[in-house]
Amino acid sequence: MCPFKYRKGLWRRIEIEGGQTLADFDGIMREAFDHDTWDHLSEFYPEHTRGMSGFGEIDPLGGGNGAEVRIADLGLSEGDKLEYVYDFGDNIQHVISLEKIVVPESEVEYPRITAKSKTRKRYCVECKEMGKKTVAMWICIECSEEAGEDICLCEDCLTSEHEDHYAEEILY
Ligand SMILES: [Zn+2]
Ligand SMILES: [Zn+2]
Repeated sequence: MCPFKYRKGLWRRIEIEGGQTLADFDGIMREAFDHDTWDHLSEFYPEHTRGMSGFGEIDPLGGGNGAEVRIADLGLSEGDKLEYVYDFGDNIQHVISLEKIVVPESEVEYPRITAKSKTRKRYCVECKEMGKKTVAMWICIECSEEAGEDICLCEDCLTSEHEDHYAEEILY
C-alpha cells in the first residue's frame, strides 16, 4: 500500500518480487501515481529516516546508486514500512507498507498494481467555509503541510487564495 503521506485515502496495492530492484519498484510507483517516468530523481528510505539514510538515489533513466538494490536485500518483514520520495524539489512523499509476503504466481509479470483506492470526491475547504460544496481539483501542498491535513481546493479558490503556493492536481 502506498498512500501519499498526506492523503491516506489514496493508495495502490503493488506486487513486486524480492529479486527485483528498487529501479523496478520506482518504475511501478511512477506508473501507479502518475509521476513523470523520465524526469526527477527519487529515493526509498527506511521509515522515519527521511533525508538521512536512504537506499540510494534512483534516476528514472536507469542510473543512481539505489537502482540496483534488490528488494530482498532491504531486510523487510511483514508490517514494515518504507518511505518513498519522488522529486527532491517538490518532495512528494509516499508511505509504503509491506502487507504480505506471498509466493509469486507463474505467468504473472511483476511488478504489478493489483488494487487501488476507490475514488472518493474531495471538496474545496474554502468553499466549505462559505457553505458551498464544490469538488476540489487541487491540493495545496504548502498549506497541507502546515495544517497537517489535506487542504483541497477548487480551481477558483486555488487561483484566488493560494496563487503563490505550491499545489498539485488531485489524482482521483
Ligand atoms: Zn473553492
Ligand atoms: Zn495554500
